[in-house]
Amino acid sequence: MMKALKDRTIRASIFLGLALIVAAVAGYRFRAQWVDEPLYPSPHLTEVRMLSEYHAPLEGTPMDTELYIFDSGEPGGTVLICGGNHPNEPAGYLAAVFILENLRMTEGRAIVMPRMNRGAFLHTESQEAQLPNFFIPTAHGERRFRHGSRVTNPVLQWPDPTVYVNPRGPFWDEIVAEHPEIAEGNPGPGRQTLAGVDSRNVNRMFPGDPRGTITEQLAYAIVTMIREEEVDLAVDYHEASPEYPTNNVIVAHERAADVATWAELLLSGDGVAISTDTSAMHLRGLTHREWGDAYMGIRPVLLEAPNVAQGRLKGRSTPEQIVEGLDMAYVRVQMIQKRLNERLAERARRLEERGRIPRERTRRILYVNIPETGIHIDVRVARHVQTTARLVEAYNDQMAGPPIGIADIPHYDEIIENGSGHYLHGPEGEPPAGAAREEE
Ligand SMILES: [Zn+2]
Repeated sequence: MMKALKDRTIRASIFLGLALIVAAVAGYRFRAQWVDEPLYPSPHLTEVRMLSEYHAPLEGTPMDTELYIFDSGEPGGTVLICGGNHPNEPAGYLAAVFILENLRMTEGRAIVMPRMNRGAFLHTESQEAQLPNFFIPTAHGERRFRHGSRVTNPVLQWPDPTVYVNPRGPFWDEIVAEHPEIAEGNPGPGRQTLAGVDSRNVNRMFPGDPRGTITEQLAYAIVTMIREEEVDLAVDYHEASPEYPTNNVIVAHERAADVATWAELLLSGDGVAISTDTSAMHLRGLTHREWGDAYMGIRPVLLEAPNVAQGRLKGRSTPEQIVEGLDMAYVRVQMIQKRLNERLAERARRLEERGRIPRERTRRILYVNIPETGIHIDVRVARHVQTTARLVEAYNDQMAGPPIGIADIPHYDEIIENGSGHYLHGPEGEPPAGAAREEE
């Protein structure tokens, strides 16, 4: 009897010890996600500011984020370039880092915000078994980048409501009083019911709320910064799953529509096929909608590129999925789609033979063609970078505001040829290989 009890105590102690080891390892890995990987701005950087300068309560919180300012010293407009609105969209983050590490301004200034929702970089998508990092080869060795979540870490904001109603914000009434024409057909921000999880999605809550949740305060701080800095043109980088119709697209506020369509034309000359969608007035809380409705001087756009790693139909999470944009599950879905449409075409042909007029019918599961070689992150980054360069050019061509001069941004073809890592920097004089991976 005593011996059995003793055995059980020993067994329990062993299991308790193992559980503590697992908890310690998991805790260490979880905390490691809270350490920002170093970024290496181009030598033309003039100032680094924290977003909390525009909304003090963010100061010292994990939501505070860096603004990298490139001031040419010459008069001109201000362009805002943003990544990491959704940190599970890796090319969106990497494109902003790419700009940060290469940019030189010749007229006006740029504000680069690579980690817009830093609170969403601090964990991965819940229950998706996603990898917490991705790696890009550079001349300074392999660099590690965070692969985060679409929404703020629940450690920072919890619990989610059953239904989330996004905020009206403090700016709309003031703007309508001054510019009543803006309210024509435009219901204004807020009062939209969304899924509870969207209460942590910063791209559903602009223009934010200074007394709201920490994510609503982040949104408010960004809009306040845009208004105080009088941003003329803003580009917000994203990615979308292949089954999502808004893909390979510039989504533009109506004030930015002319600039976007002109950029689309310039991009066709670069061999970059992209289309322009006008931001819907009834879909609230998004950058391309609310930034334009909260400040009359800005032309905001959002860019989407195709990413298999965030799709609902994806296979097992692998590094190739994120970097090479390769996932055989999507290749198979594409084959199914092709066979389905062949069968529909065959049926239509048979109906026609019998003298009937068939209804035109095709089935669409994917909105992007996923080649068997994947859509590499270099292609997705190159699309965002080239689109940004052409948007600035279109803005200048149309004299949409004070001129903005950007330089030292490689062309789309060069990025594809050399890889995005070729243009990324590293600590000078440090041993290149593996250093970043060891801290993980
Ligand atoms: Zn997104």
